[in-house]
Amino acid sequence: MQVLAVTPEIYPLIKTGGLADVTGALPIALDKHGVTTRTLVPGYPVVMAAFKKKKPVHQYAELQGGKAAIHAAKVGELDLFVLDAPHLFDRIGGPYGDAGGKDWPDNWRRFAALSQVGADIAAGAVSGYQPDLVHVHDWQAALTLAYMRFGKAVGVPSVITVHNLAFQGQFGSAIFPELGLPPQAMALDGVEYYGGVGYLKAGLQSAWAITTVSPTYAQEIRSPQFGMGLDGLINSRAVDLHGIVNGIDPETWDPANDRYLVSQFSRSTLKARELNRRAVEQRFGLDADKDPLVCVISRLTWQKGMDVFAAVVDQIVDAGVKIAVLGSGDSGLEGALHAAAARHRGRVGVVIGYDEALSHIMQGGCDAIVIPSRFEPCGLTQLYGLRYGCVPMVARTGGLADTIIDANEAAVAAGVATGLQFAPESGAALMQAVRRMVDLHSDRATWGTIQKQGMKADVSWHRSAAKYAELYKSLIARKAA
Ligand code: ADP
Repeated sequence: MQVLAVTPEIYPLIKTGGLADVTGALPIALDKHGVTTRTLVPGYPVVMAAFKKKKPVHQYAELQGGKAAIHAAKVGELDLFVLDAPHLFDRIGGPYGDAGGKDWPDNWRRFAALSQVGADIAAGAVSGYQPDLVHVHDWQAALTLAYMRFGKAVGVPSVITVHNLAFQGQFGSAIFPELGLPPQAMALDGVEYYGGVGYLKAGLQSAWAITTVSPTYAQEIRSPQFGMGLDGLINSRAVDLHGIVNGIDPETWDPANDRYLVSQFSRSTLKARELNRRAVEQRFGLDADKDPLVCVISRLTWQKGMDVFAAVVDQIVDAGVKIAVLGSGDSGLEGALHAAAARHRGRVGVVIGYDEALSHIMQGGCDAIVIPSRFEPCGLTQLYGLRYGCVPMVARTGGLADTIIDANEAAVAAGVATGLQFAPESGAALMQAVRRMVDLHSDRATWGTIQKQGMKADVSWHRSAAKYAELYKSLIARKAA
C-alpha cells in the first residue's frame, strides 16, 4: 500500500511540536504493517540542505507566484517529496514565521501551494508514482483534500489528522480567487468558513476519514467547549471520526541508548538517573539535595495551563519541591517564571528557549514532569516521561487522560499506577497532586514501582500504526466497493 503524507513539519528535519514527531515516526512504524509512506514537505532551507542529489521529478513554471520543483529524496529512513519553491520557503526564520515569531503574511499562499502540489501528486503528477491514499496533517496541509475533491484526484481515499483544533488556518475571502479552486468550492460544504476561507474546515469537510490523536480528544472536540467552532461539522462527521493515540520514536527516546543523557539507564538501573539529576540541578542553578525535583518542558501558553502553573509556583516551593522549567512562548508567562526563579534561588530554575538535548536530560533526571494543560490532543512529553522514569503529573484531559494511570490508592495497591492526574484549570487540584507526589516520593519503594510501571507501558507506535493501517485498508476497500 502506497500512502502519500502531506505535512508542514517532520522530525528530524523541522519541528515546532508534536506534529513533527508523529510525521517522522509514523512512516517507519507503518512500514512493518505493509504500508509505504512518502511524505511531501516544504523545502525550507534546513530541508533543502538535508539531501544532495537534486533532480526534480516534476516542475512548475508557475506555482503561487514563482517557479517550483518537486524533488524525491531519501533522508535517513524517510522517503520524501520536497517542494522546492524558493519564493515561498527559502526564508530565514521558522516554518510559519520570521525569527521574531511573527507569522509570514503569505502563509495562506505558502500552504495553498503545498496542498496544491499534494493534490497534483495524488492525481499522478510524478510519473511512476500513484498513491493509494493521501494522509494530510493539520491546517497547513488540509487544503490538499479540497484540491483533490474539486480536481482530478476526487476518487483517491483520504485521511486528515487533527493534531490541535486550535490551529485552523482561517483567512479572508479575498484570497479565494488566488487559490485556483473552482467557484463552487466557495460554499458551505467546501472551503467557506464564516464568510472567509477555512483550511482545516475544508479538510474536515472533504476527508474520507478524520482522525485525531487520542480517543478522549476525539470525544471532546464534539463539544462546544473543545470544538473551537468546528464541533457542529465534526459532529456531522462523527461516524468517520477516529481517535488514535500517538506513539513515540523508541530509538530517539530510549534511556538505555540516549546520547544526550549524561548517564544512561534502564528499569533495573534507575539509580543511574542520579547523574542526570545533578546535571539538571547544575544547568538550572538548583540546590543539590534529595528533595523532589519536578520539571516542565513545554510551550509556555494558556493551552498548556502555564498560567495556572505559574500562579502556584510559590506553593510548590513551599511544599519542598524544586522546579526546572524549559520552554518558550508568551512573554508574560516567561516573565512570571523568571520572577519566580529570582524569588526562589536554588529552588526554581528557568531556561527560556528550545533545547532538544536538555529536554532529554530533564526527562532522564527529574522525578516528575508537570503537564497542566487545559486541553491536550495527545501530548508527547508524558509519554517520554513514562519511558524515562520521570513520573507524569497531568491534567485529566485528552490524551493525558488516555495514557496515564492515576496513582490513587487502589492503583498503587495493585501496582498499576504510572502517574498522577488532576482536574484541568485548577491550581488547587494541581497542588493536591503535588502533595500526593511528595507523599508517594517519600516512600522510595512505592515511587520506584510507579517509575518502573511507567517504563513498562507500551508507548511505541506499534499498536497505533496497526490502527492507521486498518483505517487505510478500510477506506481503500470502500473505494473498491
Ligand atoms: P505540542 O505539540 O502541543 O507543543 P506535545 O507534547 O505533543 O505538545 O509535543 C511537544 C514536543 O516538543 C515534545 O517533543 C517536547 O519534548 C518538545 N518541546 C516542547 N518545548 C520544548 C523546549 N522548550 N525544548 C525542547 N523541547 C521542547
